[in-house]
Amino acid sequence: MLDIPALRAALLAWYDAQARDLPWRTGPAAGKAGRRSDPYRVWLSEVMLQQTTVPHATPYFLGFTQRWPTVRDLAAVDDGELMAAWAGLGYYARARNLLACARAVAADHGGVFPDTEEGLRALPGVGAYTAAAVAAIAFDRPANVVDGNVERVMARLFAVEDPVPDAKPELKRLAGDLVTAERPGDWAQALMDLGATICRPKGPLCDRCPIQPWCEGSKTGAPETYPRKTRKADRPRRFGVAYVLTRGDATALVRRPPKGLLGGMLGLPTSDWRDHPWADIEAAEAAPTAGAWRDFGAVEHVFTHFALTLRVLRAESNGEGDFVWTGPEGLGALPSVFLKAARAGRERLV
Ligand code: SF4
Repeated sequence: MLDIPALRAALLAWYDAQARDLPWRTGPAAGKAGRRSDPYRVWLSEVMLQQTTVPHATPYFLGFTQRWPTVRDLAAVDDGELMAAWAGLGYYARARNLLACARAVAADHGGVFPDTEEGLRALPGVGAYTAAAVAAIAFDRPANVVDGNVERVMARLFAVEDPVPDAKPELKRLAGDLVTAERPGDWAQALMDLGATICRPKGPLCDRCPIQPWCEGSKTGAPETYPRKTRKADRPRRFGVAYVLTRGDATALVRRPPKGLLGGMLGLPTSDWRDHPWADIEAAEAAPTAGAWRDFGAVEHVFTHFALTLRVLRAESNGEGDFVWTGPEGLGALPSVFLKAARAGRERLV
């Protein structure tokens, strides 16, 4: 029988001593003194961290909070400015949701985040995970905060043999059994820290783990084999053509339709993306203008649901077409798939 109070005490004591120092976090000592984290900063960090790592997200977080210190400031930003600031964090639908949520908090809640999981969940673009994380960390609600790190810790702690994703509800239930009304915000963050620094995906550091005495996965001698996985079907591959149309130093961009992948973003003109490669003649026919299109190879990019092979064709503008022209400095704000293609098209020029 698992001694939950002892396990909780061990993990919280470890967190008190080892909590990571993160710019959006109020550490355990300040928390005990009654200081709580700013919900705006917690929410922003959680949205950013859903798709990237702490080291990658941190400069973005610092930049955002310096430019827009409150949710009202963020709500007042125009869409294009936010999309440019988000470039490099991937998955732009999340940036659009971020803005919709900030505007809802500013307009409908007087700039104050709701302080319950249910209230947070009702905001646009706030999913179950983010609502639970903000409720626990910013408002000390006993919410069950379960991301991939926590799932991994639970799968190992309880040596869950069912593979993910089928085991996810079970992992969530197991995590929920450990949540109490005592220091719920610190508990959520302690589990996150344990998953990130000790119970790591490839090399769990069991000899330094505060909950090792209770860990069934560690006792098997192969904790890194949890969570069990079903074989993932290969990601489908799609094929497209990116057109690098140049006018001296400048490159032609187009604004993508508001809906769909990379919606509303500036990018290179492209063909459709389809499930088989583009022949030379088809690629030239799909070009945004007539011209002497030359082949500059291909770039690869992996999206969440598919991998893309993008052929790169380049031509000098003949003056036709309606484009947004940008110099080399503007290319850095492009979504990374277009930045790769633009670099491939431009760098081989020299
Ligand atoms: S003992 Fe090892 S496997 Fe178990 S939770 Fe700790 S680091 Fe993870």
